[in-house]
Amino acid sequence: MNQLQKLLNEMGIVRQNSPGLFTLTPLGVRSLEKLVKIVDDELKYVGCQKLQLPILTAGNLWKTTGRWESTGSELLTIKDRHARDYVLSPTHEEAITDFVASLPQLTHKQLPLKLYQITSKFRDEIKPRFGLLRGREFTMKDLYTFDKTVEAAHETYDLICTAYNRIFQRLNVPFVKVVGSTGNIGGLSSHEYHFPSSIGEDDLKICSACNSGSNAEIATTDVCSKCGSPVKQTKGIEVAHTFLLGTKYSQILNALFSAEDGSRSVCQMGCYGIGISRILAASVEVLGTDSEIRWPKLIAPYSVCVVAPKGGSKEESAIQLAHFLANQIDQIQPFMQDVILDDRMTTTVGKKLMEAKRVGYPYIIVVGKKSSQPVPLVELHDLNQNTQNVYTVAELFDYLKQTVKN
Ligand SMILES: [Zn+2]
Repeated sequence: MNQLQKLLNEMGIVRQNSPGLFTLTPLGVRSLEKLVKIVDDELKYVGCQKLQLPILTAGNLWKTTGRWESTGSELLTIKDRHARDYVLSPTHEEAITDFVASLPQLTHKQLPLKLYQITSKFRDEIKPRFGLLRGREFTMKDLYTFDKTVEAAHETYDLICTAYNRIFQRLNVPFVKVVGSTGNIGGLSSHEYHFPSSIGEDDLKICSACNSGSNAEIATTDVCSKCGSPVKQTKGIEVAHTFLLGTKYSQILNALFSAEDGSRSVCQMGCYGIGISRILAASVEVLGTDSEIRWPKLIAPYSVCVVAPKGGSKEESAIQLAHFLANQIDQIQPFMQDVILDDRMTTTVGKKLMEAKRVGYPYIIVVGKKSSQPVPLVELHDLNQNTQNVYTVAELFDYLKQTVKN
């Protein structure tokens, strides 16, 4: 495991149970739930509906599409007491297509259908490494779309890509979208979203002029296919993938709808993944330093950490001020239920500050040496801006409220 993934373990965000399997602690779950909310908001905005498929998919469905054999040893399978095969699903094209096929009254008026879930997925890695970046169980958002024509499926595809762009823009981690290989999922075309990073496992070729690019697996020349400028090679961590599937699954599994002329037609599909737990690990990888975690502001476990003085210290009387600040900041809209107070009595302010920086809370307020003066002063560490200033309480609130507006 590399340094930052170790740090996520050390600071109590995740804990590795056995190779490739992780417990998310309450801090880790807070980050995960914040990310889930961003994804939910943006997908619902473009008309997607959330559902939940079983984690186990009947092996027969995977045998029907041929993926039982073609996926190989990465597929985790089990048998029940009747010796029936099941897949611990890494993805759900079979299950969702079978579900849509079970809707006998589906008509063109109900299309497009845009159905997604955010659940655990499984992959039997030979050698799990990079911590949460490549687990054997991971949290993934998978969306499947069903359209009546190829043209409509293209429009849906473009619409979902706009939602993906908004998700990554809100996270504010540098990302690139490149043309990807369709691999074992199959289909007509695909795109990948990457966080550029030296520890990434994918080689990307990105145009130095227009920023379009492709995965090196499928790049054919060393010049940009769009503008002819030279391309540069870089490493990326894949965090999302989109596929235009055509009828690969809907044909075999009979996902049909009644067309305008009354005939039964095959749905045109798309599928779209986002690695939710991987984004947590990958954004920390991109933003962090060797010794300190940094989060995209919107998905830090808590936005604000208030560090209270140690019991028995000269500033002990300011412990009340720390409680007051934590309570008041909790009243400011975006920080509601998003403030953590470190009021451990036997730990020094310096140690508590060091730990808060390592966890990477975006705003750390230290109630320290100057806090017991007639006009108390507190320190504000704005980690994402990399600034540190001393403020009166009124100035502190102004700063935080101003931050909210920006
Ligand atoms: Zn170009």
